[in-house]
Amino acid sequence: MKTLVQTTRHHAERRPDHPAVLCEGRSLTYDGLHRESNRVAHALRAAGLAPGDRVAYLGKESEHYYEILFGCAKSGTVLVPVNWRLTAPEVSHILQDSGTRLLFVEEEFAAAVESEPETVVHLGSLEGWRAPHPHHDTQFEATPDTPVAQLYTSGTTGLPKGVVLAHRSFFAIRDALASEGLDWIDWRAGDIALIGIPGFHIGGLWWATQNLNAGTTVVALRAFAARQAVDLIRDLGITTACLVPAMLRMMLTEPGAGAEDFTTLRKTVYGGSPISEALLEESLAVLDCEFAQIYGLTETGNTAVCLPPAAHVPGSPLMQAAGRPYPGVRTKVIDGDGRALPPGTVGEVCLATPAHMVEYWGLPDKTAETLVDGWIHTGDAGYVDEDGYLFIRDRIKDAVLVAGENVYPAEIENVLESHPGVAEAVVVGAPDERWGEYVHAFVVPTAGQQPRPRDLHAFLVPQLASFKLPARYEFIDRVPRNPSGKILRRELRDRFWGDSARKVN
Ligand code: ATP
Repeated sequence: MKTLVQTTRHHAERRPDHPAVLCEGRSLTYDGLHRESNRVAHALRAAGLAPGDRVAYLGKESEHYYEILFGCAKSGTVLVPVNWRLTAPEVSHILQDSGTRLLFVEEEFAAAVESEPETVVHLGSLEGWRAPHPHHDTQFEATPDTPVAQLYTSGTTGLPKGVVLAHRSFFAIRDALASEGLDWIDWRAGDIALIGIPGFHIGGLWWATQNLNAGTTVVALRAFAARQAVDLIRDLGITTACLVPAMLRMMLTEPGAGAEDFTTLRKTVYGGSPISEALLEESLAVLDCEFAQIYGLTETGNTAVCLPPAAHVPGSPLMQAAGRPYPGVRTKVIDGDGRALPPGTVGEVCLATPAHMVEYWGLPDKTAETLVDGWIHTGDAGYVDEDGYLFIRDRIKDAVLVAGENVYPAEIENVLESHPGVAEAVVVGAPDERWGEYVHAFVVPTAGQQPRPRDLHAFLVPQLASFKLPARYEFIDRVPRNPSGKILRRELRDRFWGDSARKVN
């Protein structure tokens, strides 16, 4: 199997009655997924869409999302999944920028569609729309390089860009692992896989396609809710889960989480943002299963680096690593002039992976800046140790520049969160007349506790160099995050910078 076109065909022949997608009590078998996605593909063609045309989906997770994903693949059209939390102008930007010709929209989000594409299909009338079309195979063949999805970056670092991904992005890592006989992340046909991350985000789409390619059962949550995730693990006997650190945190703080039955869970895959050691250790203790960390970007087709289960030993320095590259993937760290840096030196992380994006849609200059001679320039600061383990510090643009020294927020947050009175911490740079910037720490206290700034400070002093110490502590109720769990640092930082240049980061 080399393309998503083959996925449902393959499993519909071999395990037609096996559930492919479970959502809110409904079950879609592999045969059903194959037939219904064929009908979507025929209907798209009948609506006048040609290979390469863009088809958008604005809705929450459901089995229909996957019927449409594979329907697009089998008609040669490119799926543009849209984050349903976006505002009407943001949705318009994506529909227009992508040149979407047909939009599938869930009724609850129809009001967010201000400028309608040529054709709009409401999900409530999907059945009727595709009913006249046959469910036999379209016989469309794609190549690994045929574009199949266009995902918009969340825009935490600027205007959202459309990342065009071809079929190979969903197969390259799996093929590399198989060819080397390595099993860092294994999928088994009997697995029941929970998708915590939404499907409009590369993490969710990647996890779902990996599982469907492997013939497992995918459990889709309409939208992530910690209580529901905990209940589903117990009630459905979930065996694997893919979550961002913020979701793990929410699940662990659910009342009674420590006493829950997670015995069926054999592997938790996590990534998407830095994780504090305190949260990772607590997750290992409570979920009590294998953990694998993944690191990557939408631009690298998700994971390029993985920290395997064997490296998850509490107290080991590897607990702070993002992992090592997969076979066929290379990492390098460069300075501001593009020169490769030796092991242990922090610079920009670059990744060469066979799963990399085709391009940023309609942005050749941005593509040329990010994809250079096969290397994706990640915008992340990090270093590689002598054994090839990659350690991510944080996004370069999030670094706080204190008297010429770079301070990476994740490092300070990690230490702060190991204080028992701190549930979550966010660090940003604020203007300082003398040093350029100072470190400002926002702290969400642990329920029922109110640590004093001076105690937090005393806790940090022996652990961090003096220029990294926060000059101010401010207590807040919750951390603003996007749906994929990333801290919306800009929301907190903008309070200090108003309209000045720093705000643009
Ligand atoms: P934008 O680029 O607009 O901010 P985005 O946040 O949606 O959009 P993604 O491609 O989803 O972009 O996120 C990629 C980033 O997530 C990486 O560059 C890195 O900063 C962070 N990230 C992903 N995995 C990890 C990990 N395991 N550890 C630390 N950071 C991670």
